[in-house]
Amino acid sequence: MSIEIKNLDYIYRKGTPFEFHALRSISLKINNGEFIGVIGDEGSGKSTLIQHINGLLKPGSGDVIFDGINLNGKGVDLRNIRLKTGFLFQNPEHQLFADTVYDDIAFAVRQLGHDEDDIENRVMRVMDAIGLDFVMYKDRSPFGLSSGEQRRVAIAGVIVNNPSILVLDDPIAGLDSFSKEKISTEILRLHRDSKVTIIYATHNIDEIYRWADTIYILKNGRITLSGPPGEILSCREINYTNQDELVAI
Ligand code: ADP
Ligand code: MG
Repeated sequence: MSIEIKNLDYIYRKGTPFEFHALRSISLKINNGEFIGVIGDEGSGKSTLIQHINGLLKPGSGDVIFDGINLNGKGVDLRNIRLKTGFLFQNPEHQLFADTVYDDIAFAVRQLGHDEDDIENRVMRVMDAIGLDFVMYKDRSPFGLSSGEQRRVAIAGVIVNNPSILVLDDPIAGLDSFSKEKISTEILRLHRDSKVTIIYATHNIDEIYRWADTIYILKNGRITLSGPPGEILSCREINYTNQDELVAI
């Protein structure tokens, strides 16, 4: 598996008075099993960039090449790519919809036609991994849960399909410390034990610098800096603004 992005530009609402040039000349390469950090302030283009990885957004210009397949090509079948890629949207708890936690988590595997025993085993396994007791939570409504619990349900619904690539858009932003800890630990476990490729977008480099192989710093839609965490942290473009948080400026 490899993903290559070449000279990607993206403009929202192109041709209208509201057009906005969100990404400029982005090039990067992601190899199998890597942990990639995409760091930038709010509005820098993180969400726009990572939505190109499995074809959720189509490049304005430039190319996204997934395992040798140019996603811009005519008649490209994105189904297979989406099956391999788990995508956790920013604030995914807003997309919970089922009557029970169990049904919400099971939704993606049901689409693939697994039998109910297999589905139940998978749901049990991911709920356990993410700190949601199966018996206590399975019949509850996701809407009655805390936001940390809801976020964990949403993540369980993504990892239940055993994706080989996990794209995470600010997965622990704004959560309680127990939820942060559970989610971070599970992401790291998937990466280390199951060799899942991780693409992790956040404003807070502190969340990932210990784990990332390569970090890309985004500013106003451009990559201003990239490299291994050690190199990034020693660069003057990065400032410590307080003890807990490293912020890309
Ligand atoms: P980030 O995830 O780093 O906060 P985004 O990729 O969400 O940044 O947004 C990058 C820029 O594109 C922002 O200035 C944002 O306002 C703009 N933008 C995002 N989505 C849209 C949209 N649907 N229509 C117009 N502009 C958008
Ligand atoms: Mg975003």
